[in-house]
Amino acid sequence: MKKNEHIRRWGEKPYYSLDYHLKKTFGEKVYKVALDGGMSCPNRDGTVSTGGCIFCSNGGSGDFAIKHDSDNDITKQIESGINSLKANGKFVGEKFIAYFQSFSNTYAPVSYLENIFSQAINHPLICALSIATRPDCFNEEIYDLIDRLNHIKPVWIELGLQTMHEETSALINRGYTLNVFEETVHELRKRNITVIVHVIIGLPHETESDFFKTIAYLNTMDIQGIKLQLLHVLKNTALAGMIGNFHILTQDEYIDILCGCIARLSPDIVIHRLTGDGPKDLLIAPEWSKNKRLVLNTLSHELKVRGIYQGQNFRNGGF
Ligand code: SF4
Repeated sequence: MKKNEHIRRWGEKPYYSLDYHLKKTFGEKVYKVALDGGMSCPNRDGTVSTGGCIFCSNGGSGDFAIKHDSDNDITKQIESGINSLKANGKFVGEKFIAYFQSFSNTYAPVSYLENIFSQAINHPLICALSIATRPDCFNEEIYDLIDRLNHIKPVWIELGLQTMHEETSALINRGYTLNVFEETVHELRKRNITVIVHVIIGLPHETESDFFKTIAYLNTMDIQGIKLQLLHVLKNTALAGMIGNFHILTQDEYIDILCGCIARLSPDIVIHRLTGDGPKDLLIAPEWSKNKRLVLNTLSHELKVRGIYQGQNFRNGGF
């Protein structure tokens, strides 16, 4: 891409932001309603392991989701989520994404999944479904269900990869190997399902170069979106017990890595997130991450000063 072409391509930001993508796709600002499908995770219930990923809190990465009722009433959750957005004074339009966030949202019998996902997709204010899960929580029936739903309204599958490095994966107790991820992406893309991948910056003992390798690897995969998440050390996690044995990124280091990552990332991949929303009451470190507005403003400033835009250093197949 030529310098400044991004201004025509993505509006004001020098990267392909989710906001831009949503406005282009749905014609207006769209909010996410975080839902709790009442599922667990095979990495916590003993199927894969009992400890879970070392950074994962008891909320299963869904600390902002509305809590699950035993009657599985997703319609009620959606309405309550929209009312909370309104009560928080946010401008709320007519389109929302149903976001199944907590734990592994394809880890249940297909009849159960069909019930909760159908309630969401049939709600008149829902324009798309976003389902966060693990790549090892699929089978043919689940792929077929998602395929059917994707013909009604768009379905996005969010996969928590965190890193491409097997050594780090073992350290964080992710509980599946890279080839499982690749197979799942292949199956989803065969059915034209949008794939969004979560990665974490600042995992123990990973260097900047390790992280850039994860980005280069993802550039070679057929994925449509990425969530970049700062490693948060939360209370009551195994990671909290490791403090002192690994480096916690400073804000300057984090901004440097983000700049490098945006420059390397394929210009076709939508950036859904550039930092994180760790629950403040559980956060142990890094303290600076509590001021998310400052982090994002500093990043915008640095991208401008350094003249960086998404895909600037992207070359097919990595770098
Ligand atoms: S896969 Fe997700 S929910 Fe399960 S332990 Fe890891 S982060 Fe937590």
